[in-house]
Amino acid sequence: MSTRALQYDAVVLRREQVSDHLVRLVLGGAGLAGFASSGVPDEWVGLVVPGQFQSRYYTVRSWSGSELVLDVVVHATGLVTEWASRDCVGETVRVTEPAGSFDPPADARWLWLVGDLTAMPAMARIAETTSLDLRIWAEVTDDLPGYLPVADERVTWLAPPAAETSALGDVVAGLGWPEEPGYFWMAGESAQMRKIRSYLKRDRGLPNTAYDVMGYWRGQVAGRERRSSAVDPGPIWRAGKAAGRSDEEIWAAYDATSGGQA
Ligand SMILES: Cc1cc2nc3c(=O)[nH]c(=O)nc-3n(C[C@H](O)[C@H](O)[C@H](O)COP(=O)(O)OP(=O)(O)OC[C@H]3O[C@@H](n4cnc5c(N)ncnc54)[C@H](O)[C@@H]3O)c2cc1C
Repeated sequence: MSTRALQYDAVVLRREQVSDHLVRLVLGGAGLAGFASSGVPDEWVGLVVPGQFQSRYYTVRSWSGSELVLDVVVHATGLVTEWASRDCVGETVRVTEPAGSFDPPADARWLWLVGDLTAMPAMARIAETTSLDLRIWAEVTDDLPGYLPVADERVTWLAPPAAETSALGDVVAGLGWPEEPGYFWMAGESAQMRKIRSYLKRDRGLPNTAYDVMGYWRGQVAGRERRSSAVDPGPIWRAGKAAGRSDEEIWAAYDATSGGQA
């Protein structure tokens, strides 16, 4: 199996401010001919913005066959953040072919989604496509009415304890888990996600087919700036799948390759 992803040039057709920290980019143009969805609802693409060579990774919020929608979090500083914060309509970016990892077991009766603002596009798209009994925990500062296509009582909105911090680890540890089989999907800051993976495996004894926990971004450690993930999860994902590894093993390998330390 090849670990090289196809690449496509795309033009920013529209830029919309969804909320204070979320910007919607609608990409299109002839360069996207041949782009195809993997059909996996948390699929992501690598994005290279003008004047840069490093990729950052964004969930395919939707693909209509001609328009590719990415919802981009604009946080304090960052390569894509700074570019997406200004008027970028008409500019050409490069995206890779999509890959996704959401894979609930056939006997799952319920689906729990937990995440921060970067996880909202994937949680929205998963929610659109699932027929499982769904609950969502969203830790966001922004007001996003109607963003998640589910009834209000299915969603628990949580405020982060402080700017660019998270209490999702405590939230997950405090959940009362159903007896019947289900699927737990989560994405957020990498160091937290490593702890949560460990909690699910060691403390809850869940089989690794029962959860998918992904480090979407790399936070800072006191006294030292942490580099964010600059490693494409796509090849690691495809190579891991080809080698028969579990989602948990693949995402742990991704964290290790990205050089993050808890
Ligand atoms: C599979 C996958 C899917 C993803 N889907 C999405 C998506 O749909 N939308 C989305 O917005 N992001 C998504 N992300 C996360 C996104 O790739 C990272 O947040 C990325 O680092 C942002 O790039 P940047 O150029 O803005 O900042 P960078 O240049 O990468 O980082 C600059 C600084 O900002 C900090 N930083 C990075 N991200 C954040 C953040 N979210 N909050 C606070 N501080 C941050 C870093 O610690 C670093 O110090 C996804 C990541 C993965 C792996």
